[in-house]
Parts: sequence; structure tokens; C-alpha cells
Amino acid sequence: MKGLVFNIKRFAIHDGPGIRVTVFMKGCPLDCWWCHNPEGKSAQVRNVERIDRVGDREFRSEEAVGRYYTPGEVVAMVERDRVFMEHSGGGVTFSGGEPLLQPDFLVETLAILKKNGIHTAIDTSGFAARETLVSVLPVTDLFLFDIKHIDNELHKQYTGVGNELIISNLDMLIEKGKDVILRIPVIPGVTAGMDYMQRLVRFIGKRNNGSLRRIDLLPYHKTGSSKYRRFGLPDRMAGASQVPDGHIDDYAGLFAQLGIRVKKGG
Ligand code: SF4
Repeated sequence: MKGLVFNIKRFAIHDGPGIRVTVFMKGCPLDCWWCHNPEGKSAQVRNVERIDRVGDREFRSEEAVGRYYTPGEVVAMVERDRVFMEHSGGGVTFSGGEPLLQPDFLVETLAILKKNGIHTAIDTSGFAARETLVSVLPVTDLFLFDIKHIDNELHKQYTGVGNELIISNLDMLIEKGKDVILRIPVIPGVTAGMDYMQRLVRFIGKRNNGSLRRIDLLPYHKTGSSKYRRFGLPDRMAGASQVPDGHIDDYAGLFAQLGIRVKKGG
């Protein structure tokens, strides 16, 4: 069995769980307006133009985005960074796209990593069948779980799907006492604003049973814009501006009252 992956990268995550190797898996059932990894949305390999610049010269070639790996191949790549992970208390994170879209590959790969003593995490939208999420529980140490929007209608409008399944999956993880980091996109015109953040504090407060390890506030940024051009996709956030740092500090202050660590940025 193979999994479709579009990148495998080592990240030094400061103020976080050490140095992590992130495996970006391809394919996502959501279509978030602000997605920073649009190359991860399609569940197929796509050829795109690559432009390399050397001095004032440009070299154009075609590049395939996405490659099929066996679990053993992914584990071998991750193992090259074992020394960094071990010394920093890091591990491996499966992100995307939506990693839970390829459950068989994911479970098998996570199981090998766990057996090898490597800390495992999944970065998920939470939009997955309950049995899929249950299948990864024994082999996943940490869930990075997105809350895109707590209003069902607005969730549908900005991501293409409703949030009922997502919230029910989040509640299941919390009830089971799994370690969860909540990831909150701070999007101008959508989630940025004190009223919404206050509602979110109440939403999270009702679920604060010790499972929630941290809240990450993820301000919208424009780094994905060039990717939209490259992949020929419409950029629905084209006119948006950044959320001022001071506003992020204000939101962080609100969440701090929950007694959960708050981090600005991913
Ligand atoms: S869930 Fe993540 S990968 Fe999928 S569209 Fe949204 S931001 Fe992009």
C-alpha cells in the first residue's frame, strides 16, 4: 500500500514540541478560502511549471507535485532525522492536505514509527469518519486539531463542509483524554474580531478538561498567494490584509483566561 505525499520537511519548532519532521499528505475534503497549501488539496499528482532563477536568468521546467511512498519509505526518510528529534524531544507530524483521507497508509506508517519510539502527531481538519479517527488513536500521541469556525453555516461557506462531524470528533478526542492542540485560524473578515473570539473562548471553556494542551492562534498571511497563481487556482482572499499583531495579542489575552497555554503562530 502507498500514500500520496507532496512534501517531507524538517521543521525546528521553537516554543513547541521540539524538531519535527512533517509529512504533507495530498488530498483534502475541505476547500478553505485561506489554505496555505493549495498544492495539497488535490488527491492526484499534478504537473506544474517550475521556475528557477540564477542571476537574471530564468530556467523553466515541469515538476510533478505529489509522489507515492510506501510506509517503509516514509519511515526511512524520517529516521534520517532521528538524532534531531531525539535530542530536541520532537517527532513526526502528518499534515497536508488531510492525512486522515489516507487512513490505511497512515495507520501502518504511524504504527511503525511508534514501534520505533518516535513521537507521533496528526494535524487534521477533523473532517473524517468516526471509525477512521478511532483507527489512529492507538498510534497517535498528539492531535493538532483545527477549529475553522464554530458557526455551521459560515464553516460551510468558507470551507465547503459543515462543522457537525468535526465538533463531534473533537469532543470524542477530548472525552478520551487524548492530547490535543487547538489551531485557530485568525482570518480577516471571517474569524478575526473580539466578538467571535469571545464566543470561541466559551466554546473551548466548555471542553477544557485537561486534554487541551495549547491553543495556537494562526494569523492569516499571504504566503500562499504565489502558490495560487502557480497552480492556476482562484485566490478568494486576494483583497485581504494581514491581521495587526496587536489584535492577535488581544485575542491571546482572552484565551489566556482559560488557563491553557496560548501560542501565536503555528
Ligand atoms: S483543511 Fe487545511 S489543507 Fe484542507 S483546504 Fe483547509 S487549510 Fe487547506
